[in-house]
Amino acid sequence: LWQETLEHLKEIISPQLFSTWIKPIHFIRVEKSTVFLQVPNRFFLDWIRDNYASRIEQALSTMGAVDYHVVLEVGKPENAIGTPAESDANQNFSAPVEKEIFPQKKPEFFPSNLNPRYVFNDFVSGSSNQFAHAAAMAVANNPATTYNPLFIYGGVGLGKTHLVNAIGNAILKKNPDMRVCYYASEKFMNELINSLRYARMDEFRNKFRSMDVLLIDDVQFIAGKERTQEEFFHTFNALYEAHKQIVVTSDKFPKDIPGLEERLRSRFEWGLIADIQAPDVETKQAILKMKAEKNAIPLPEDVAYFLSNSVTSNVRELEGFLIRLGAYASLTSTSITLEMAREVLKDILVEKNKELTVEEIQKTVAAHFNIKMADLKSPKRLKALVLPRQIAMYLARNLTSLSFPEIGERFGGKDHSTIIHAIKKIDRCQEDDFQLRAVITTLKNNLTR
Ligand code: ADP
Ligand code: MG
Repeated sequence: LWQETLEHLKEIISPQLFSTWIKPIHFIRVEKSTVFLQVPNRFFLDWIRDNYASRIEQALSTMGAVDYHVVLEVGKPENAIGTPAESDANQNFSAPVEKEIFPQKKPEFFPSNLNPRYVFNDFVSGSSNQFAHAAAMAVANNPATTYNPLFIYGGVGLGKTHLVNAIGNAILKKNPDMRVCYYASEKFMNELINSLRYARMDEFRNKFRSMDVLLIDDVQFIAGKERTQEEFFHTFNALYEAHKQIVVTSDKFPKDIPGLEERLRSRFEWGLIADIQAPDVETKQAILKMKAEKNAIPLPEDVAYFLSNSVTSNVRELEGFLIRLGAYASLTSTSITLEMAREVLKDILVEKNKELTVEEIQKTVAAHFNIKMADLKSPKRLKALVLPRQIAMYLARNLTSLSFPEIGERFGGKDHSTIIHAIKKIDRCQEDDFQLRAVITTLKNNLTR
C-alpha cells in the first residue's frame, strides 16, 4: 500500500519537493484505517502535517479504497516498530468520534479541527495583509457582531489558512464553551457525501447548525459541486439567521470563482471581503526572522535578506527554504551562511528567477478577457480592448524588470508615454474600483503561481 501510495504521490508532487519531504517518511504499520508514519524530527512533523498530511491521506485512500487517516510520529528508522507505550498512546487516535490527525480534547463537543500552531501572535502583519489581519482580529474579538460573513481571499501560501485558524483559536481561548469549527471545504464535502450515503443527513445538519463559529477554508473547491453548494447554502442561512459567525476563505474574489452559485456568491458579499496580497520584501524578512526564531534556526541577517529578495512570494515556500537550510546546517554541523544558502537553493533559485515574459502576461490577460493576443498589441481604440491592454501594460511593468520603452516595443511599438499613462491610470482606478483590484489580483496570482 505504501509503495503504491508513494508512486501516486510522485506523480502529483514535484520531484524536488517529493525528495525533500516525502522520501524521508518511513512507513511503520497500518491498523484498521490508521496508517502510522515516521518522520525524522519535530519540524518535519509539523511541516508534513500542515502541508502534506491531507494529500497523503487522500493518496492512501485512493490506493487502498479505505478512508485512511495518518498518524505521524517522530523517530529514528531503526526503531521503526512502535513501542508498546506508543501504541497505547495511539489508542486515542482511533476513537470512533471523528477522524483527525491531532484531536483536541473536547469530549462534550465535536473537534474544532483547528491547528493550534496558527495563532495571531505568530502572524506577521505587513502592508500586503494588513486589511485581512485587522478584519480577522475584529471578528475574533467580537464574533458575529462585526463582519459577517468575513471573506478572505488571496493566492496560495499567503496566510489564509493561518488567519482563519487564528480567528478560531482566539475565540476558543476566550470562550472555551463556544462551538468553533474549522473545515477545509473538501472535508465538508466528504462528510456530506458520507452522510448522504449512510442516510445520516439529520446528524450532519444538526452538527453544522449547532456551531457558533464556522470557518470554511478554500471554498473554491466546492464550486461546481451542486449538492455540496446547496447544502452549504442552507447551512450558511441557518447560521447567519441565528447570528453565528461565518468565515470563508478562497483563492479568488467571489465573482471570479468559476462555478460558484450566484446565491452563494451574493451571500459572501454581504459581509466584508478582505484580500491578502503577496508580501513585500520587508514583510518576507520579518516572517523569516520570526519563523527562524521559533524553530531555533540561527539565520544571519544577510541570508534573510537574500531569501526575501530572491525567492517566491509564497510564504509556505519561503518557510520551506528556511527549514531546508536549517536541516542542512544541522545535518552537516555547519552554520547557515550566504554561500551555503546559495548552494543549497541553487536549483530552485534558477527556476524561480526565470522572469515572466511580456508574452506570458499578454496571453494570460487575453485569455481572461476572452480577446485575441494580437488585439493587445494593436492600436485599436475599442473600449473592450483598451482596459485589458492597459492592465497588461501595468502587469508588465509590475512583474518584469523591463523599462517603459522596452514594454512599449512589446506592445506593437508603442511610445513610452503611452505605457506610463496606462500604468498611472490603472494605479489610480484601482484605488476606488475594488472590482478592478480583484481582477488584477487574480491575474497576478495566476501569473506568479
Ligand atoms: P494559504 O492558506 O493562503 O495557502 P497558509 O495560511 O497555509 O497559506 O500559509 C502558508 C504558511 O505560511 C504557513 O506556515 C503560515 O504560517 C505561513 N504564513 C503565511 N503568511 C504569514 C504571515 N503573515 N506571518 C507568519 N506566517 C505566515
Ligand atoms: Mg490554505
